[in-house]
Amino acid sequence: MSFSYDVKEELARLFSDACCQKAELAALIRMAGIIKITGGLGKATLQIQTEHASTARKAFKLLKKHIKSSVEVAISKNNFLKNHIMYIISVNLEEARGLLKDMGILSENEKRISFKNSINPVLIRKRCCRRAYLRGAFLGGGSISDPKGPYHMEFVTIGKRHAYALSRLIGSFGLKAGVMERKNSQMVYLKDGNNIAELLGIMGAHGSLLKFEDIRVIKEMRNSVNRMVNCETANLNKTIDAAVRQIECIKFLKQQNLFDNLPSNLKQVAELRLKFPDLCLKELGQMMNPVLGKSGVSYRLKKIENIVENLQSMKGEK
Ligand SMILES: [Zn+2]
Repeated sequence: MSFSYDVKEELARLFSDACCQKAELAALIRMAGIIKITGGLGKATLQIQTEHASTARKAFKLLKKHIKSSVEVAISKNNFLKNHIMYIISVNLEEARGLLKDMGILSENEKRISFKNSINPVLIRKRCCRRAYLRGAFLGGGSISDPKGPYHMEFVTIGKRHAYALSRLIGSFGLKAGVMERKNSQMVYLKDGNNIAELLGIMGAHGSLLKFEDIRVIKEMRNSVNRMVNCETANLNKTIDAAVRQIECIKFLKQQNLFDNLPSNLKQVAELRLKFPDLCLKELGQMMNPVLGKSGVSYRLKKIENIVENLQSMKGEK
């Protein structure tokens, strides 16, 4: 099963406090609910559709708690993904109307029944209830990619205003969520690993948060090892380039019969460089008598390069 599925399993099994339940249910309905009108208003139903069994169970329980009439459960094949099953929780709209109005998610316009595009501020006055709203929103329309790959968490909802309200709600916890149009819906998304981890915690998915962080640590460690390996290779290339340059300079001095004119301390380093072209500066220094540090060797070799550069520019060869 996917990481997204695991997160939903965990969230669906959480028990919400009495004050939070309406916020959670409102978000679930707003994200996964539809109003189905077949054969007159009296027969209209409020439906919550989900592929996720535990989310369906949660929606069923929450509706039962707040509505007196019967709540039905049905299944149907998903129109798009043939092997998937949709759970449909439905309740007569007239019976649910009081609850929907109480939650402030039903549009007051009696001619056309629809969901409001805003989040009722009364529902999310308390911090715990804001967290519950996000939990319901994730259960109703959220998904998260496997943390082994690029970080991505999203909430898909209908209506631009609801999408921005959701992104502001996420923002109220100090996290950054973007909004993007996708097909006929809006996507509220997070890309930052830290933000996603925090949001998992805010929603109450603590088990998933630990798993996410475990994978993230391993991934980032692997990245930093790769960076280190690349860095060493870069240094090695630099060392080789420098050695080639130094040897060319020394050979130039020999060709021009100028080598013996060098001061003895430079001559000693130069001889060793020619003899051991693949040793690093530190190793060369250890072969000197007396032993010389890396910076001392570097200084002397630089000096030789300088001398050659001066000679070449004077001779107009460069
Ligand atoms: Zn609450």
